[in-house]
Amino acid sequence: MAQDAQLLELWQAAVGARAAVRERALLGQAPHSLPERNRLALQRYMELFGVDAELIGRCAQCGTAVEFTIDARHCVAALPAPGTHAADDDSQWHALDGRDDVPRFRLPTPEDLYALEGIDEPEAFADALLARCVEGDLPATAEAREAIGARMQALMPGATLDFSLRCPDCPHAWDAPLDPVDLLWRVLRARAERLLSDVALIAQRFGWCERDILALGPVRRAAYLQLAGG
Ligand SMILES: [Zn+2]
Repeated sequence: MAQDAQLLELWQAAVGARAAVRERALLGQAPHSLPERNRLALQRYMELFGVDAELIGRCAQCGTAVEFTIDARHCVAALPAPGTHAADDDSQWHALDGRDDVPRFRLPTPEDLYALEGIDEPEAFADALLARCVEGDLPATAEAREAIGARMQALMPGATLDFSLRCPDCPHAWDAPLDPVDLLWRVLRARAERLLSDVALIAQRFGWCERDILALGPVRRAAYLQLAGG
């Protein structure tokens, strides 16, 4: 597990940065493929926060929030071994057999994700991603677009991660996607914001400097926070 000062350093290197810069800071290197990006993010998550990650999904039918915990070790074990996926050659063109109506396509890379930063709506994002990867125009039918997407997933296992969820309040079941970089960044940001707020309270009350407050460690810091009325 990481020291609090380390967490703040990492947060500072990533906050406010563009996606490509933020990811290089978080992962310690620029990933070459989407499966590698997922593996690096899960490994970094475990180094900083341990193996358990708590997530929340929402039922699309009734709106119930579903809390679930994943084990990052299992996620890493399910990814293909480094260097074994087709995306190692991301300049290669692929085609769908017997489908002359579908353009050739290449596999998406981390750079494609960075270029689409800011598109949050999942369907718009999927279309924009596909548009970057096909040769020529995006296929007009949803069926053709889905066929390319399915083939991409088959060619690049580990590029996307899904968890099967079941709603506790209604019969709805679904696959919830997980972006490990997003998870890593959300947890780091929440931890950093909490640390900064704790440091600010203790500094105001006792007049100590940030370095000394961080060096207290979580148990003594919590005790002083209580004394400070925080
Ligand atoms: Zn439900």
